[in-house]
Amino acid sequence: MPVNPTEQKTLDTLCADVLAYDPQADITTLKRAYQFADEAHGGQKRATGEPYIVHPLATAFTLAEMRLPVPILIAGILHDIPEDTQRTLEDVRAAFGDDVASMVAGITKLGKIKYRGMERYIENLRKMFLAMAADVRVVFIKFADRLHNLETLEVIPPKKQYRIALESLEIYAPIANRLGMGEMKGRLEDAAFKYIYPKEYEWAKNLAKTTREDKQEYLDRVTRLTQETLEQAGLKNVRLHGREKHLYSLYRKLLKNERSIARIYDLIALRIIVDSVADCYAALGIIHSRWTPLKGRIKDYIAQPKPNGYRSLHTTVFCEDGEIVEFQIRTKAMHEEDEFGIAAHWAYDEQGKYRTSTSPMGGAPPAWVHELADIQQELADKKQFVQSLEDIKIDIFHDRIFVFTPKGDVIDLPEDSTCVDLAYAIHTEIGNTCTGAKVNEEVTPLDRVLKNGDMVEILTDKSRKGPNPDWNKFVKTRHAKVKIRQFARSKISSWIKGILPGTK
Ligand code: MN
Repeated sequence: MPVNPTEQKTLDTLCADVLAYDPQADITTLKRAYQFADEAHGGQKRATGEPYIVHPLATAFTLAEMRLPVPILIAGILHDIPEDTQRTLEDVRAAFGDDVASMVAGITKLGKIKYRGMERYIENLRKMFLAMAADVRVVFIKFADRLHNLETLEVIPPKKQYRIALESLEIYAPIANRLGMGEMKGRLEDAAFKYIYPKEYEWAKNLAKTTREDKQEYLDRVTRLTQETLEQAGLKNVRLHGREKHLYSLYRKLLKNERSIARIYDLIALRIIVDSVADCYAALGIIHSRWTPLKGRIKDYIAQPKPNGYRSLHTTVFCEDGEIVEFQIRTKAMHEEDEFGIAAHWAYDEQGKYRTSTSPMGGAPPAWVHELADIQQELADKKQFVQSLEDIKIDIFHDRIFVFTPKGDVIDLPEDSTCVDLAYAIHTEIGNTCTGAKVNEEVTPLDRVLKNGDMVEILTDKSRKGPNPDWNKFVKTRHAKVKIRQFARSKISSWIKGILPGTK
């Protein structure tokens, strides 16, 4: 959310924005980077006719909205220099040091994509994975860069427009989502939506506008009532925000619900921001005592955060006049994390490098960032990569669920995973010898689809010879598929070795 959407984007307003979240920020170097970029890009113009510096500056503004440390903003201002100007990466290094230069080098690498069509897609995805595993800051800058390019796409030839928009929708937005950057994901999607499905975009936009206008008075009334109700019950510092749904996610929901806006439950949504976790639960209780909650719509993402780190309490109630209203209740810290995701989770030292995490998810980058790096290394072979692409997309981009083991471990799996997927996620040996499972204390077959919060015990039999190849028909994760295939292959090769003497 822009700090002040109507403000002029100048170097001075950028500095003011930065000082507002980091009073100690090194503004002198930030200004020097701006001068350096302005000189390097000289008389260059963007396709919009504006001076080129508008673009690196807009990139830095987005990074400042994410409250990132100044060195990342500096790299954002300098990101197009080695590629598009007479100045080299070495010039950047000499002027701003190794760390900034390494981020700029990371962006430059991401920009060089040789191929076309499917090959291009794959190369793009692999590069994003690599960059992310090496230094997630580079991906933040790339998002900010891409967002501004999308916002100024109307001046680009239509074919190129479509390619850039599609790439944003299929690669950038899902990665932002996995990083817990809800706001960034929504902005990338909405900016791309317009170019990919222009008619659908107009339809969703008009529908959202009419509905908003129709409901505005009602929303104001409910906001006032909620504020009063919570304050009368003794809660202090209650802040309420209406929440506008991003258009592309509204469109996706409409498709799922027969295009009927009446079936979208979170169309009228209010965010309640309070001081503490205890106040979150108190607010939930107060709301439920005033309005009746809908069954099955109460979600406690504070006790059980989503795998991308998202925390909030959600509830949907029959509100005034029987209208359905969704409430999301959270603390200020949770609210910032929802917008900025991984960027808000991690603390940085003065150089803007990661130090420790303030996130409930732990200090290191999430495990899947390393998984990505492994996957892409393992799949050096392009053909193999294409074959596994669908599985990888399911593993990485799908919504995730949490399941619990009897020992209390929490395992993060893609949606629709089965007991066998879990068995392999715990250990290959458990996967190879599993015979059944208990889900929430109840014995079930191995192909049972797991749900968020399930407590699962995998039953094994040490004398079992190995996995059943038929499991491949229902397992969801690439990891399980690979392990099942590997076992079959090793069995065949040991069988061949057994009958062919001398092939050891
Ligand atoms: Mn750029």
